[in-house]
Amino acid sequence: MAIDPVCKMEVDEKRSKFRSEYEGRNYYFCSEECKQEFEEDPEEYVV
Ligand SMILES: [Zn+2]
Repeated sequence: MAIDPVCKMEVDEKRSKFRSEYEGRNYYFCSEECKQEFEEDPEEYVV
């Protein structure tokens, strides 16, 4: 399981349609909304 970095929800990376790549790493999201939020300001969510 991956963790949605925006809302901290668990996301199944094999099923998630909402994926974003940032600095060579993949991030998965529960919704389009979270994905957009992340892409607007990835630095805020990347650990
Ligand atoms: Zn989310």
